[in-house]
Amino acid sequence: MKKQEFKAESKRLLDLMINSIYTNKDIFLRELISNASDAIDKLYYESLVDSKVEIDRDDFSIKLLLDKEKKTITISDNGIGMSKDELDHNLGTICESGSLLFKKEKENREEIDVIGQFGVGFYSAFMIAAKIEVISKKYGSNEAYKWSSDGVDGYTIEKSEKDTFGTDIIIYLKDDSDDYEYSRYLDEYVIDGIVKKYSNYITYPIKMNKTSHELKEGSKDEYIDVEKEEVLNSMMPIWKKNPSEVTEEEYSNFYTDTYYDYEKPQRVFRNSVEGKCTYTSLLFIPSHTPYDFYGKDYEKGLSLYSNGVLVMDKCPKLLPDHFSFVKGLVDSPDVSLNISREILQEDKEITLISKSIEGKIKKELEDMLKNDREKYLKFFENFGLQLKVGVYNDYGMYKDDLKDLLLFYSSEKKSMITLAEYVENLKDGQDKIYYASGETYDKIDLLPQVENFKEKNLEVLYLKDYIDEFALQMLREYDGKAFVNISKEDVNLDSEEDKKALEEENKKSASLFKLMKETLASEVSDVKFTNRLKNHPVCLTSKGNLSIEMEKVINAMPTDEHIHAEMTLEVNKDHPIAQKLKDLYETDKEELKKYTKILYSEARLIEGLPIENPTEISNLICEMLSK
Ligand code: ADP
Repeated sequence: MKKQEFKAESKRLLDLMINSIYTNKDIFLRELISNASDAIDKLYYESLVDSKVEIDRDDFSIKLLLDKEKKTITISDNGIGMSKDELDHNLGTICESGSLLFKKEKENREEIDVIGQFGVGFYSAFMIAAKIEVISKKYGSNEAYKWSSDGVDGYTIEKSEKDTFGTDIIIYLKDDSDDYEYSRYLDEYVIDGIVKKYSNYITYPIKMNKTSHELKEGSKDEYIDVEKEEVLNSMMPIWKKNPSEVTEEEYSNFYTDTYYDYEKPQRVFRNSVEGKCTYTSLLFIPSHTPYDFYGKDYEKGLSLYSNGVLVMDKCPKLLPDHFSFVKGLVDSPDVSLNISREILQEDKEITLISKSIEGKIKKELEDMLKNDREKYLKFFENFGLQLKVGVYNDYGMYKDDLKDLLLFYSSEKKSMITLAEYVENLKDGQDKIYYASGETYDKIDLLPQVENFKEKNLEVLYLKDYIDEFALQMLREYDGKAFVNISKEDVNLDSEEDKKALEEENKKSASLFKLMKETLASEVSDVKFTNRLKNHPVCLTSKGNLSIEMEKVINAMPTDEHIHAEMTLEVNKDHPIAQKLKDLYETDKEELKKYTKILYSEARLIEGLPIENPTEISNLICEMLSK
C-alpha cells in the first residue's frame, strides 16, 4: 500500500501540535465531536432539500466507546460520511479555515495557547494518539474506506468494511509517559466531564456506556457493575435554559468558543420577546476591537436559529451597521428552516426582529453608560468610531437614536463627556456647543484659537477622529444648541465695544491687508486683525461649512478631487508683529511680502497643513535670521 505524505503545511502544524507544551489536550474531543455534529448537520440539511434522503432527525447520534484493553477511544457518527477522495482530501491537508485562523492569531499574539483556544480540528487528536484510524462510508454509497496514520510520516487509505453510513474515528492512545498520563482518557468520568464542558450544546445526543455499581437483584449486599448507555450532553442550547441556571462563566465560555475570541465578552445580554415578533436573543459585546473590524472584509451579523436549529450563520439583516460590533444569535420559532438568503432580506418577521434587537442593544448601551461609566469608556474606545460613523451614514437617518451614546473629550474636564453633560454645564448666555479639531488632544489643546476659550472658562469639545466633524455637522444641534467650530471666522467672543475697536483697526489697515492678500495669491480669502489670540501671532480660520480639518480628511481620500476650505489669515492685533507689519507697509513693501509668506506658513504649520513651497520659505527664514 502506498503511503501518502502530508502536505507541507499540515506537517508543520502537526509537529507543533504534538510538541506543544501549553496545549490543553482535552480539546481533541471537542474537535472530533464538532466534526461529527457537522457531518450529521450536512446529512440532515440534505434530507431537508432532497426528498430521496429519508432520515428521522431522532435517529442521529454521536457515540463514544472506550476500550481499556486495546487502549482506544472511538468516536462514531451516523452523519454524511466521507468517500475515498474525501478522506484523502479532507484529512490529508489541514483545513483552509483552521490554518488561516491559526496563522492570523499567531501573528497577533505569540504567547497565548493558540491550539487550545481555537482548535485546529481533526489534527488535534494527534496530541494524544499514537495512531488514528478513520473508517467511513459515505451516505448513499456501498463502499467503506479506512484512512490510517501515525501522524508522523503520512497516511494510507484502503478499502474497508462498515455496515452503516457515517464515520468511526479510532484513536490508539499514546503510552503513558513521565510527562503525561494518556490513559486518563479511558476513564468514563474524565470523558463525561470533557463532553459536558465543551460539547454540552451539541444538538445531537452524545452517547456513551457508563458503568455503575448497583445492588444485585434480590441481594442485600452484593453489588455488580452494570453498563448503561447514557446521554452525556444536555443538548439544551444555552439560550434556551432558564436564565437563572446559567452562570456568567458558561456564557463566557460559549462566547469564546463560538466566536474564537481569546478574551471574554465585555457584556452579555439575553432577551426573550413575545408579541409582534417572538424570539430569544443572546448578544455579546466584545472586550476589544476585532483585528479586522474596521476593514472592509469584516462581516457583521447574528446567527439565526429556528427552534435551536441553525438556519444561517451570519445574518447581516439582523444588525444595523452602527451596531455591527455585536456578536450573538437569535432564535425564533417564526423563522422557517428553509428560508433562503434572498427571502431573508425581505422577510417581515426578520425586519421586525431586527428592529426590536436594535432597540435592545441601544437600551443596553444606555444602561452601561448610566450605571457603569468605566466600562462604557472602554466600550467607546473600542467601538465609538462605529457609532459616530452611524450618525453620519444614511443621510443621518439614525442620528437621533445615536446622539446620546456619543462621547467627546472635554477641554475642561479633561475626560470624555456626553453631549447632555456639555449642555448641563453651559455658561450663562451660552447658546452654542463649541468644538475644535486636530490630530491629537494635545495638539488641539495647543491651538491658538483654543486659548481664548479656556481663558473665558468656556468648555470646548476636542475632536480627533476623521469622522467627528462630519458627524456633528450631520447632527447640526443638540438640545437646540448649534455645534460651532471655534476655528470658524465668524466665531467671536468679543464684547460689542471690542468688536467696534477691532473693526476700526481693520479699516485703518485695509491697504496693508490688501497687499498681504495679493502676496498670498489665491491661498486665503482674507487677511485681518483679530482679538481671538492671546500669545500666538497668527492663525487660520475658515469660512462656510468646510473646516480646515475636513479639508484634510477629504483630500486624504483616494480620489482625484481636491478641495480647499476658504481660509482667513488672522493676525493678533495685540502682538508686536502687528505693529511691525504696519511699519513695514510704510517703509519696505518687499520686506512685508516676505513677512507675510513666513507668517502664513507658520499658521499652516500650527494647523497641521502642509507647506506647498518649503524651499522658498526656508530660504526666507534663513535670510531673516542672517540679518
Ligand atoms: P474543519 O472541521 O475545521 O473543517 P478538520 O481538520 O477538523 O477541519 O476536518 C477536515 C474536514 O474533514 C472537515 O471539514 C470535514 O469535511 C471532514 N471531516 C472530519 N471529520 C468528519 C466526520 N466525522 N464525518 C465527515 N467528515 C468529516
